[in-house]
Amino acid sequence: MMQCRNGCGATLTFSDKHKSASGKMIPIDSVSGQPHQCPNSDFAMKKKDPELGKSVIEVVQDLQQRMMSLEKMFEERMTKLEMSRWS
Ligand SMILES: [Zn+2]
Repeated sequence: MMQCRNGCGATLTFSDKHKSASGKMIPIDSVSGQPHQCPNSDFAMKKKDPELGKSVIEVVQDLQQRMMSLEKMFEERMTKLEMSRWS
């Protein structure tokens, strides 16, 4: 048995029964006996969430964009406020 290299805390085993299409052994979660779906892997991050219709990465990017446009709007308003103070 080995610890998941992504640091999710799961212990993994390998089995001949579970191989990927390319013939690589797929890590099996030792608790559930199912192929390990690592919550820490890039794969999980890029996978679309059926409820959101977006992957975690896409959601984060979306939020970042919204933050940036809010920041810009705020800055513009502040500038106007500053200007009006001196006019
Ligand atoms: Zn893992």
